[in-house]
Amino acid sequence: MINYIKFFIQKKQSAKYIRKGHCKQCGSCCRNIVFYIGKEPVKTKQQFEQLKNFDKHYKNFYINGKDTDNKLLFTCNALSKNNKCKIYHFRAMFCRLYPNPKQSFISNGGKLQDGCGYYFEPDKKFNSFIN
Ligand code: SF4
Ligand code: SF4
Repeated sequence: MINYIKFFIQKKQSAKYIRKGHCKQCGSCCRNIVFYIGKEPVKTKQQFEQLKNFDKHYKNFYINGKDTDNKLLFTCNALSKNNKCKIYHFRAMFCRLYPNPKQSFISNGGKLQDGCGYYFEPDKKFNSFIN
């Protein structure tokens, strides 16, 4: 029980990432999306078909290429030619919160797009733990 309480207090006091900056409305995050099945990134059209069979919402995306690791990159159908979201007021919660500096996003290797106007910063400086 004591260990559980210690763990809980340490977790509460640990540094967290916070989001800073602003959106430059470049649309890059809506056209370079990587999907995962479990912890594995989607790399083939067959895997994408699997996803679409699993959840019809994946039909809102199309393949626009591959990154250097052969992960498929997807673009959202709702992205207009001038980088605006055509369903802005009805977009998913994920889109509303993006980029969300959750620990799982960062520990799973999630990165912001090159040139994104946002950046992540720890809410506590290293010095605050040793002073
Ligand atoms: S990549 Fe960053 S700056 Fe560009 S649209 Fe997405 S959130 Fe905004
Ligand atoms: S719904 Fe809008 S904000 Fe969400 S990925 Fe598509 S274009 Fe981007």
